Amino acid sequence: MGKDESMGIPPRMQDYIDAGERYLAERGRYIREEVKKWKFDTIAVHGLYTVRDAIEDYQGSIIEPIFMSTAQAYRDSDEMAAALAYKIPTWAYSRIANPSTYYYEWTLALLEGYGFEGETSCCSTSSGMSAIMTAVQPFLRVRGHVHEPRNIVATAQCYGGTFQQFTVRLMQERGIEVRWVLDATNLDEWASRIDANTRLVYGELPSNPQLGFFDLRAVADLAHSHELPLIVDSTVATPALLRPICHGADIVVQSATKTLTSSGFGVCGAVIARKNLVTNIDDDQLKADFSLCVKYLQNRDFGPNLHPMQAVMTLNDMRTLRSKIDLMSRSTMKVARFLERHPKIESVQYLGLPDHPLHDLASRYLWLVDAEYDEQYGKPVNRYGHLMSFCVRGGAENARTFFDGLQRIWRATDLGRIKSVATIPAISTHQQQGEAGRSLANIPPHMVRLCVGGEHPDDIIADLDQALSKVGKK
Ligand SMILES: *Cc1c(COP(=O)(O)O)cnc(C)c1O
Repeated sequence: MGKDESMGIPPRMQDYIDAGERYLAERGRYIREEVKKWKFDTIAVHGLYTVRDAIEDYQGSIIEPIFMSTAQAYRDSDEMAAALAYKIPTWAYSRIANPSTYYYEWTLALLEGYGFEGETSCCSTSSGMSAIMTAVQPFLRVRGHVHEPRNIVATAQCYGGTFQQFTVRLMQERGIEVRWVLDATNLDEWASRIDANTRLVYGELPSNPQLGFFDLRAVADLAHSHELPLIVDSTVATPALLRPICHGADIVVQSATKTLTSSGFGVCGAVIARKNLVTNIDDDQLKADFSLCVKYLQNRDFGPNLHPMQAVMTLNDMRTLRSKIDLMSRSTMKVARFLERHPKIESVQYLGLPDHPLHDLASRYLWLVDAEYDEQYGKPVNRYGHLMSFCVRGGAENARTFFDGLQRIWRATDLGRIKSVATIPAISTHQQQGEAGRSLANIPPHMVRLCVGGEHPDDIIADLDQALSKVGKK
C-alpha cells in the first residue's frame, strides 16, 4: 500500500468521488431504463446528449458541444488528484478524453449494442487504422518471455491498410505471425490456424472491396472455445445493417470515416467492445471494460485520439444513418442489376444479387435495422449496403478506359460517400501489397470498386452506361 492510501482519502476528495459515483449510477439507470428502450433512429439522433446536459452544462445548446480545448480545469488539488487517478469521471486532457468525443463514443457504443442484452462501450480513435491498432495491441503483449511465439488469425480478404498493418508492422517488424484464412467460409480452415500461441481472431465482413463474408456466429463460437476474442471490422455494414456483438463478436472496429461520415468530412475511427469479453490474457480490467481500459491506459500512452470537431461532424452524419443506408442499398441493387446485364461487364460482385455465392450466408446477417417498425416495410428486410465491385471485360486497359470516362461518379480512393465514388483497387487501396498480396486477397487488375451514393440511381446508371460505351472504341 502506498503512503497516500495508508493516510486515507481526504474528506474533500471523498466528496468528489461520491458525486462521481452518483453521476455514474444515474447515467447507468438512464441508459438501462430509457435509452436502451429507444428505437435505433432515436439513439442515432440523440445518443446520450440530453436536454439536462445542455441546460446545466452547455448553455442550452441543442447540438453537442465542440470543446476545442486541450485540458479541463479543476476546483482544487483534491479534484485534480481524483481525476488523474481516474477515481471520478473526467476529461482531464483531450488526448485522454473530451466532452465532444464522449458523446460520439456513446452514440457508437449504443448503436453497435442495439439489440444486445449486455453492455457495450466505445473508444474513439483518430482513424480506422488506429482503431485496428487499438483493438489488436492489448492481446499481443508479452506473457512470459520476450521471444515467445505469438500469432493472430485473420481473413486474407481485408482492407489493404489492414493487410499492410498486419504483414509489415506486426509480422515483418515484430515477428508476430499472421495466419491468413483464405476461404473464410470454411470453418475447418479457421480451426486449423488456431493453436496455443494464438492471441486473437480477426475478420472483416463484408470485406472491402471483394465482399468476402463468413459465418459470424460460428467463428465467434470457435474463437471462444479457444478462449480467444473475435475482432470484426464492420465498416462496410455499419450498425444499421449488422451488429457483430449481437452475434458473438467481442470487439468491433469501425472506420467511421466511411459510411458513418457519409458527407466525407474527415477521417475518424472507433473501437466498440462488449463488457466482459473473452481473452486468454490475464488482465481483469481489460476483460471487464476493454474500451475504457484502452482509452485510459494504452491510448493515453500512444495518443491516437480523435479531434473534437471531427467527433461532432461525424455525430451529425450518423443521425440519419439508417434511412441513408436503406436508400443507398436500394440504389446499389438497381445499379448492380444494370451492370449484370451489360455486355461489356464480365462479372458483378454484390451480396444482394441472388446468384452471388455468398448471398444466402450474407442474407442471414444483413438486415435493415428496425424494418419491422417501418411503415413502408412492416417486416424484416435484407439490405446489402452500398459497396459493390465489378470486372470490365477485356482486362485492365478496358477497366481504365471505362474509369477515365466517368463524368458524374468521382474517381477517388474513397467509399461510403453520399456522392458516388469509384476506384480501381489494384492501383489504389491495394497497391501497397503487391501482386502476391493482391492475389491472396483476390483483387484482379480489372476490378472496379463502386460505392453508390444518394443521387438518383438512373443518373448513376446513365453515367456508367456512357463510360462503358467508350470501351473498345479506340
Ligand atoms: C478505410 C477502411 C479502413 C481504414 O480506415 P481509415 O479511417 O481510412 O484509417 C479500415 N477498414 C476498412 C474496411 C476500410 O474500408
